[in-house]
Amino acid sequence: MGEVLLEDLTKDFGEVIAVKEVNLTIHDGEFVVLLGPSGCGKTTTLRMIAGLEEITSGRILLDGRVLNDVHPRDRDIAMVFQNYALYPHMSVYKNMAFGLKMRRVAKDEIDRRVKSAAGILGIETLLGRYPGKLSGGQRQRVALGRAIVRDPRVFLFDEPLSNLDAKLRVQTRVEILKLHQHLAATSVYVTHDQVEAMTMGDRIVVMHEGVIQQVGPPMEIYQSPANHFVAGFIGSPSMNFLSATVRAEDGRTFLEGGGFRVPLPAERAGGLEGRENGEVVFGIRPEDMRLDAEGEIEGTVEIIEPVGSDIFLDLSVGGASLTVRVEPSVRMSQGERVRLHPDPARVHAFDPETGETLI
Ligand code: ATP
Repeated sequence: MGEVLLEDLTKDFGEVIAVKEVNLTIHDGEFVVLLGPSGCGKTTTLRMIAGLEEITSGRILLDGRVLNDVHPRDRDIAMVFQNYALYPHMSVYKNMAFGLKMRRVAKDEIDRRVKSAAGILGIETLLGRYPGKLSGGQRQRVALGRAIVRDPRVFLFDEPLSNLDAKLRVQTRVEILKLHQHLAATSVYVTHDQVEAMTMGDRIVVMHEGVIQQVGPPMEIYQSPANHFVAGFIGSPSMNFLSATVRAEDGRTFLEGGGFRVPLPAERAGGLEGRENGEVVFGIRPEDMRLDAEGEIEGTVEIIEPVGSDIFLDLSVGGASLTVRVEPSVRMSQGERVRLHPDPARVHAFDPETGETLI
């Protein structure tokens, strides 16, 4: 088992409230990603679960047992660090065996576990080497191995891929997922990389300034963000945001601003009721618009970015900038005037003050 419960978890460092009243249940066997920009409190949350950071208030439970005062060594939780934290003067074998030795596990059991983990990770031939003689990817695997041998109920990962180059990062991401499927242990994974979060998480927990903004499966968060912050943080290129005024005419509702007038289907307009002539933030993702001579958004092409599978056009719309994804076959030139039709089902609107999602 490995169910982790965070109850009103709070951490302050004097003036700075790093984590504020976080409530979260991480189910047994689940892969949960804590995602947010630098300084949002994700690492502090992870370190509190590991027992490396004292809790200011609230509780952490693992399978019903309160962990607050349990020594990190006795938590049945293993952490994989960003910088690998390997002992340079010990061989790979000894690095992997060290934690078990400290726990006085029998020698032959240690040997069995180290060799089994090395087999899973494909590093059997490296066991005699020292960390200084390993590549970044190999060191990362040793760090994973050191966690695996402990056979913990919960794995904690603190940005484990950020020191790897782009290609190795994608490869190791897949390996960690396979490992997770194989071991079926609960995993909590911290990253600021939204692609990592989208591709790895059963659920994503988006944090901002110490506060959970939204918890849900990746596609749910992508398609139905709880607020302006989440909408802007998830997705690359990011969702477009334009200042708009809500207009109601002949029983229809429109979002109107410089260079656009977007009608909303009746079933979606409810969220804007009572806001006629008020300001909102109109949000639309680059892939949720298409080129259309009759389109409701008009702009001028400023930059053309072909990325192979797609082309991204940066447009100027009423003085604001807007990115649209188009097919790679589309031929465009700078300065061209274009019209876009947004998918009405994918139009978002946010409260300009609170950031809350309206539609
Ligand atoms: P990063 O990705 O940069 O590590 P993060 O989301 O993991 O960011 P935390 O490291 O959890 O964020 O930090 C949250 C807040 O707490 C930040 O404002 C940070 O400056 C502050 N903080 C973290 N550790 C300490 C500390 N030991 N003393 C004082 N303030 C700290």
